[in-house]
Amino acid sequence: MKIYNVLGFGLLALQLLISAFLAPPELGPWWGMVVGLGYLLISWFIAGVYLSDMIHLGIAHRALDYKEWFIKTVTLVNNTVGVYVDPISWVNRHRLHHKFSDHAGDPNKLDADGFWKTLYLCVVPYPVTADLATDDILKTWPMRLVSHPLFIIISPVLSIGFLWLFVRDLPFAIGVWAGVRIFALWVNMVQNYWTHDRRWGTRTYDDAGDNAMNIGDWLPVTATFSACWQNNHHHYPHLLRTTHAPGEFDFGYMTVRVMHALGLVEPSKTGTVKPNDLVLAEVTL
Ligand SMILES: [Zn+2]
Repeated sequence: MKIYNVLGFGLLALQLLISAFLAPPELGPWWGMVVGLGYLLISWFIAGVYLSDMIHLGIAHRALDYKEWFIKTVTLVNNTVGVYVDPISWVNRHRLHHKFSDHAGDPNKLDADGFWKTLYLCVVPYPVTADLATDDILKTWPMRLVSHPLFIIISPVLSIGFLWLFVRDLPFAIGVWAGVRIFALWVNMVQNYWTHDRRWGTRTYDDAGDNAMNIGDWLPVTATFSACWQNNHHHYPHLLRTTHAPGEFDFGYMTVRVMHALGLVEPSKTGTVKPNDLVLAEVTL
């Protein structure tokens, strides 16, 4: 089994262990595990819709047009009670990442950076060299509110406090909260490290300029909402999906299609522009 899968399953097991050991007596270890895993699944799902479907494909690449009220609502919910990710600096860093992939100017990782350096960079990225996040949506009050430095500091208090309201036990709340953040760091590493190092994954396109790789195993694909098809995505970043062939498992695309069926999102003008060498017959929702 690949190391990224071993670590992913290991961190899910760690969440179960933390939940069982810290569960308050009235809950017991088994219900403790149900609550701990349930909290992880809910947090993962909201964060996946927020970051991968909306902030990444919707805003950073403008491949999808979401209802504005929906983007703002999910942004407020995710950053208040879920896994905090500053939308404005994320969009800026992500655009710089595509512009300078694996070279000086990429805030996520340089070609020579290894596992521990990239892990550190997930928390403290390289300084940005330009402001590419000037979109109108990023100037609206929900985006400015959650990106405010004060909000970044109080966000953990809000999310732990919200969890405490349900479980009424602070060590348990802090433990399962921390377990989800460690899992989120692994999700981040799948995108920033394992799919940007040529020792892992496969390549559909032989792009010399970057190290972007495709990883198609179901756990990382599901965990990242398909953001681990990096070789595909870096080759055609304008597309509304990151899979380019019928056999490629695409959990993120499934969630976008459900939101499309609910009338929450439409393809943008560029999101469906099919390149001639794409294996898929058409790109649509
Ligand atoms: Zn991207």
